[in-house]
Amino acid sequence: MTGQPLVQMRDIVKKFGSTVVLDGIDLDVQEGEVVCLIGPSGAGKSTLLRCINGLERISSGSIEVGGQELRYDEKHLNDIRSRIGMVFQSFNLFPHMTVLENVCVAQREVHGRSKDEARARAGELLERVGLAHKADAYPDNLSGGQQQRVAIARALAMDPKVMLFDEPTSALDPELVGEVLQVMRTLADEGMTMVVVTHEMRFARQAADRVVLLADGGIAEQGPPEDVLGNPSSERGKAFLAELTD
Ligand code: ADP
Ligand code: MG
Repeated sequence: MTGQPLVQMRDIVKKFGSTVVLDGIDLDVQEGEVVCLIGPSGAGKSTLLRCINGLERISSGSIEVGGQELRYDEKHLNDIRSRIGMVFQSFNLFPHMTVLENVCVAQREVHGRSKDEARARAGELLERVGLAHKADAYPDNLSGGQQQRVAIARALAMDPKVMLFDEPTSALDPELVGEVLQVMRTLADEGMTMVVVTHEMRFARQAADRVVLLADGGIAEQGPPEDVLGNPSSERGKAFLAELTD
């Protein structure tokens, strides 16, 4: 390892029209690190994640992923995105494809893998998220938690260098949250680099190497979970935590 961060963000400003949503963010993510992004609704958490893989274009500043500066030409964006996995609140599986096909399609289109190769890799990953027995099922016949686990397998099938999660459990019934967090914890334990936007503070406490509190367009506070969630030093941190425990 070189010590070079896998994701390096410098002085990121993101505006929508005249509204400044991110106002000079510096954030590095080291290889193998699990960073949980927390903060009030509207703080810019989703926007920050979307900037990392170029789904949103930054207004100024710079982003490097794997030592390569993010540019906005299509070829480069496709290349960057093929190395960044993203999991959203909504699972967005293709309803007309089986679970196995869902995990295969981008492998074939983006990585040019053969059908056999893609199926073999999909099989391994479905095993890993505990859904090998659902390979031939259609998404409609799965629970939300199962669908989200398929979405995670689909993202992993690209062999990403980093995984971005945007509130992956917020659309789930409470009893289904645990199975998704369990898969994410295992990934974290195996050394996957992850940036996770979440309201699941228990997950943040257990899995995060670092918690970053985003508020008012900036990083209000960051550090080990026990500090940021246990004993915040900023006024913003104290207020956010107080709201959570109300
Ligand atoms: P969070 O994920 O922390 O709830 P978001 O990143 O979704 O926050 O949004 C941050 C702010 O940016 C909000 O005020 C939101 O209304 C605004 N915003 C997000 N996306 C857009 C967009 N495409 N156009 C205009 N404003 C946006
Ligand atoms: Mg959001």
